[in-house]
Amino acid sequence: MRYPFKYPVLRGPIVVTSPYGERVDPTDKTKRQFHSGLDLRAAKGTPFYAPHDASVVQVWTDTTYGGGLSLLIDVKGWRIGFAHLDRVDVVAGDAVDVGTLLGATGNSGLHTNAPHLHIGLRTPAGERVDPKPFLFDDDDEPDGAGGGLGKLVALGVAGAIAKALL
Ligand SMILES: [Zn+2]
Repeated sequence: MRYPFKYPVLRGPIVVTSPYGERVDPTDKTKRQFHSGLDLRAAKGTPFYAPHDASVVQVWTDTTYGGGLSLLIDVKGWRIGFAHLDRVDVVAGDAVDVGTLLGATGNSGLHTNAPHLHIGLRTPAGERVDPKPFLFDDDDEPDGAGGGLGKLVALGVAGAIAKALL
């Protein structure tokens, strides 16, 4: 099957540097925080692409949550956010096709100690969810440590968002 979402970073191996959920603050290790997205290792300046045909909702510098240069896109009511960016190549109101270059990853903002791409996902009801099931097929999860994430399925996503969009 073809999944409707494509993986947004096409260069290099897929490494999750911080999963969704409770974690220790990466810059203040005495604090716990809720990490509302998924972090993927990406060198500063790595291009990232639209995972689906989408409309650009907002491009802004987030000082509330420390996201730095941020981008929000809308896919049929699903909101996908990208943070800690180095550069954004689209503007609010743009309609982009899947695979369109959106910008470049970076290390802007707070709560970050190495360049990466932060991806957040909200359902059409506004609920934050873990983006990972939508980016990776569960069958490709490694059973043990050190296995990496395994191969990416069809550069796409699986699960509820696929069902919602098909
Ligand atoms: Zn993050």
